[in-house]
Amino acid sequence: MTLIDGKKISTQLFSEIHQEVENLNTGGNLQPGLAVVIIGDDPASRIYVNSKVKRANELGIHSFKYELPKTASQDEVLKLIQELNVRADVNGILVQSPPPPGIDEQLINQTINPIKDVDCFNPYNVGKMAIGDETGFLPCTPAGIIVLLKRYSISTEGKHAVILGRSNIVGKPMALLLSSKRVNSTVTICHSRTTNLRKILLDADIIVAAIGKPNFVTADMVKNDVIIIDVGINRIPDPDAKKGYKLVGDVDFAGVSPKASFITPVPGGVGPMTIAMLMYNAVKGCCIQNNVKLPKSLI
Ligand code: NDP
Repeated sequence: MTLIDGKKISTQLFSEIHQEVENLNTGGNLQPGLAVVIIGDDPASRIYVNSKVKRANELGIHSFKYELPKTASQDEVLKLIQELNVRADVNGILVQSPPPPGIDEQLINQTINPIKDVDCFNPYNVGKMAIGDETGFLPCTPAGIIVLLKRYSISTEGKHAVILGRSNIVGKPMALLLSSKRVNSTVTICHSRTTNLRKILLDADIIVAAIGKPNFVTADMVKNDVIIIDVGINRIPDPDAKKGYKLVGDVDFAGVSPKASFITPVPGGVGPMTIAMLMYNAVKGCCIQNNVKLPKSLI
């Protein structure tokens, strides 16, 4: 079994992205700028936002953080996005998901200028991804997974990839990328209404688990030599842990890993790649908007 080390690969990516930022700086006197918007005070969202801002700063990407109260109106949120859409020093806009109740996330996604849509949530970029047009952005978590597969030289061509989950953030775009002409897997998408899940999983060469259910995929559901990509991040109580909880994925790592040929751990697998791809997209946004050569494709 080979452990897919997302922390190690993301560190490589950060160094490559830092180099791209330096090149933009010396070659064109440009500095990529990333605006991060958080609405409300969800503690998990705050942690994510702060780590994105910190990483951007470390890479030389100018970050702009906007904190709106949970009472912010839809109009206030859209007005801020419209301002960011036209600012020359902002190349990427990210609105941390999920927004509080009462704020329409789809309207936010549609309002973000597609050339600044570093999360790839605007339907225009989702459409580009669907038709294989690589001039748009790719969504961070699924694209990060493709990079992991590539950097571990895992063959995907003709493999049966089963995706657990059909969210707009992970499951659906994952299906598009895995079935794209770059990756060439044969894809099955499963969700909460899927029947015979175990039978489908037992036929999978690759499983991408993104359902948010701790330790859901167990050893009896997978075949030998399966490739496991565990996207899930679940907190479960752990009296021995400092914080009183630990993070586990959607896959029972202890049970499944002896059967797997490759497996991502949680934490330290997919998570670090998501943030790396966000930084890559911020640099790509800067290149698109300033009409300079795009950074090397990672997938
Ligand atoms: P959502 O809650 O949006 O979607 C969950 C999906 O899982 C739904 O499609 C749902 O089906 C499906 N599902 C739920 N229960 C079952 C079941 N018993 N059998 C089969 N399918 C099921 O979650 P997200 O996609 O946003 O996130 C999934 C997990 O990934 C979470 O743990 C999240 O924290 C993590 N995550 C990690 C990221 C990272 O960077 N590592 C980034 C994003 C998410 P239905 O549509 O029928 O309801």
